[in-house]
Amino acid sequence: MIGGFTIQSIDEVDISEKKVFVRVDFNVSFTADNKISDDTRILHALPTITHLLKHGNKLILASHLGRPKGRDKQFSLKAIADHLQTLIPTYEIVLLDDFTLESGKKILGTQTQNQIVLLENIRFYEGEKKNDNEFAKSLASLADVYVNDAFGAIHRAHASTEGIAHYLPSYAGLLVKREVEMMSAVTQNPKHPFVAIIGGAKISTKIGLLHSLMQKADFILVGGGLANTFLKARGINVGKSLVEDEALDVAKSILDAFYKSNCKLLLLDDAVVADMNDSNTQPATYDVDQIPDNKYILDIGIKTMNNWRKVLINAKTIVWNGPVGLFEKEAYKAGTDFIYNEIVKNSVATSIVGGGDTLAAIAGKADNSKITHISTGGGAMLEFIEKGTLPGIEALKHHS
Ligand code: ADP
Ligand code: MG
Repeated sequence: MIGGFTIQSIDEVDISEKKVFVRVDFNVSFTADNKISDDTRILHALPTITHLLKHGNKLILASHLGRPKGRDKQFSLKAIADHLQTLIPTYEIVLLDDFTLESGKKILGTQTQNQIVLLENIRFYEGEKKNDNEFAKSLASLADVYVNDAFGAIHRAHASTEGIAHYLPSYAGLLVKREVEMMSAVTQNPKHPFVAIIGGAKISTKIGLLHSLMQKADFILVGGGLANTFLKARGINVGKSLVEDEALDVAKSILDAFYKSNCKLLLLDDAVVADMNDSNTQPATYDVDQIPDNKYILDIGIKTMNNWRKVLINAKTIVWNGPVGLFEKEAYKAGTDFIYNEIVKNSVATSIVGGGDTLAAIAGKADNSKITHISTGGGAMLEFIEKGTLPGIEALKHHS
């Protein structure tokens, strides 16, 4: 059992001297000159890889990278294979161009104990995203055991994340185990007060999340661009701020749902605003009912912070997704830093932080180890909190 799910992880069973197909998340980002800019995702897969190697297993690793349309060299895992080789120098990393060809089958058939096979970008195959049954079977035919450690892709029902699990004994890797345990602590039995902070650019990506969170959380603090849409839906003038006008009706219905729930929505009391078109403008703080017509809301203000602090101080569960301001610019990162500082100061609360931009906002900060869990899956984390489970997790139930 992991987080209440009847799935098993690789450290709970004996998997040794087997051929193991491991779905990892090596979907890293690259710099303009084609260097890996952040290898965090690769590093997160190492505990599972090392654990399986230690037990004498032969590994076949698979991952997607980007969104290729068919076979496209630009999306090759070559640079990742090279990097993995430096991280695991005692094994030979073999990048397998095409496992469906005779040449590929030969490499797999003669794989030695000190080779790790990395399949080329799994999205080069049409059957992957379609979760094609025959393709899933062909993946399963390569191994004796399937392990899913790709939390970042576990919300997708693709052949390598879902389909294959129907044809092999299937287990969670160590990263997936930890993520599922931590996410379940929030969705199944959260300690109260439960406070969620939701920021970011758009409401449209977070509607389901907000509806689901308001059933569980005691407070939801909303900042960022999506707060602007809520403010406008309440009839407040937000000047030239980023607003999703097409989502105003949705915002109104979410506001209605809040009033009917036991969850309190806290929006901004004041905001840091500026004239985005003029880099010489000094940011200024206004109460939210005083925003000038020609200004943009770019961060939460001091009053908002003081109000939110009262709630964050007492929290026993905290979930944070989404920067509450335009944190990429120094002048508008104070609100996002404030959230971070309140979370790391609250030593009692179970805290979970996730999201691509949220992780970028806290990268390299001194107190990251004080956050209970920094999730590796942006979309996966949001969808798990919304739905309470995910396709790739459900699939692991079948054969465990
Ligand atoms: P995550 O990737 O963590 O889920 P999102 O992608 O939802 O976060 O949103 C992050 C983006 O939202 C950042 O680029 C940030 O600059 C932007 N943002 C936050 N607040 C504002 C604001 N007031 N105005 C414009 N953009 C904002
Ligand atoms: Mg983002």
